Amino acid sequence: MIAEALAAPDTSPSDWMQQLREAFRQPSALAAYLGLDPVPPHVEDVFSMRVPRAYAQRMRHGDPNDPLLRQVWPAPAEHVAQPDYLDDPVGDLARLREGGIIHKYQGRVLLALTGTCAVHCRYCFRRHFPYADQQVTPARWEQTLATLRADSSIEEVILSGGDPLSLSDARLSVWMQELAEIPHLRRLRIHTRQPVVLPDRVDEALCDWLSAFPQPIAMVLHINHAQEIDEPLRQACKRLRATGVQLLNQAVLLAGVNADAASQRALSIALFDAGVVPYYLHMLDRVRGAAHFEVSEETAHKIMKALRHSLPGYLVPRLAREDAGAPSKTLLVG
Ligand SMILES: *Cc1c(COP(=O)(O)O)cnc(C)c1O
Ligand code: SF4
Repeated sequence: MIAEALAAPDTSPSDWMQQLREAFRQPSALAAYLGLDPVPPHVEDVFSMRVPRAYAQRMRHGDPNDPLLRQVWPAPAEHVAQPDYLDDPVGDLARLREGGIIHKYQGRVLLALTGTCAVHCRYCFRRHFPYADQQVTPARWEQTLATLRADSSIEEVILSGGDPLSLSDARLSVWMQELAEIPHLRRLRIHTRQPVVLPDRVDEALCDWLSAFPQPIAMVLHINHAQEIDEPLRQACKRLRATGVQLLNQAVLLAGVNADAASQRALSIALFDAGVVPYYLHMLDRVRGAAHFEVSEETAHKIMKALRHSLPGYLVPRLAREDAGAPSKTLLVG
């Protein structure tokens, strides 16, 4: 039964794929849907706008400053030159190994499985990542496996992207199964925003093969604001937890979105209600185009202090920064 569930996921055209195709791609269409008149300023970009309807539904009607809208709106500020904001702020490209593997930290490697995401987050540190050259592909997959098999120091593979859940269940479940067969791999991790912006992605087909998976899986969701957590997302988290997956969350501290103690406190509480444990709160990676989201360390420390004073320890995320070349993420305490 286990082999069957892993080998033969549902191949019928999925509702979530249809929803992906119906996502908002024109700022004017999203503005009209939200009743924003006039349309707020925006710019065309190769990193185009992309917003699933299931996510737009959670935005406040008529509010150009809505914290969810701000995360996805291609603002003109993205094109104001900022010398400290780079194409590869976290030094990923220097740590690439054969087969689309990013190996920065001991025992853990990250695979960029796809460049595709259901949503385009304007602060994304991989918005300029050269996916075409560097992502894992079916043609390179044997090479990827060979590299992982040959390095017994690797205990954990982190599936990332883009968003790994943009891949079909058929592709993803087979790749994960092949990873699980590598003797020294102890666990797999999936970093994804797709259940958040498209809760219907967590359908029966996905849950069936996750439930049958032989190894422990941590799934790190990417939720930045309590307003993102609605009933469909809570239900999706419930289905995921029923598969045995461990649900964690990482958020990014973003100016104009969640950079105050009340927002962070509400987020932690809403996460726990949904069965998700806060893991990281990231300082912004200084990627070109994202300077308008920058939050000072001083503000971050004040927020963390307020969280520590008002929440149980397990609801306080670790404040972290990614420093190119460092042996781990840098934890900020103070
Ligand atoms: C963040 C990250 C990891 C995982 O770090 P943890 O502290 O274990 O969550 C691994 N590899 C890369 C390249 C990363 O950016
Ligand atoms: S879902 Fe993740 S990888 Fe995709 S655009 Fe958003 S932050 Fe970037």
